[in-house]
Amino acid sequence: MYRIFSAPEAATVYIAKQALENHGIESIVQNDGLQQAAGDLAPINAWAELWILDESRLTEASAVLRDAFENRGEDENSLGAWQCESCGEKLPPSFDVCWKCGDNRPEPITGTIS
Ligand SMILES: [Zn+2]
Repeated sequence: MYRIFSAPEAATVYIAKQALENHGIESIVQNDGLQQAAGDLAPINAWAELWILDESRLTEASAVLRDAFENRGEDENSLGAWQCESCGEKLPPSFDVCWKCGDNRPEPITGTIS
């Protein structure tokens, strides 16, 4: 087993898990906060973690995650541009709300790919 990804939000780790599953890579989530309270652990220890079962697919799994997260919501010509999750409208970086449907800009995804 190898820890491929960690993030402060368990939901982010489950997005990563789904991305790996789409490529046929088995993984498990640990420390997602559902079984235990963070208690007095240091913040990094409370991060949810994604572990892959087959270490021989590590390189492939890293590439999948980089593709899933680092390219998310960014227009190649306009760094920081974003796409509305509700209506699909493309918006410039200076906008925090969709001009078409009024939905809020999605939070940037944070996490660490091992
Ligand atoms: Zn919209």
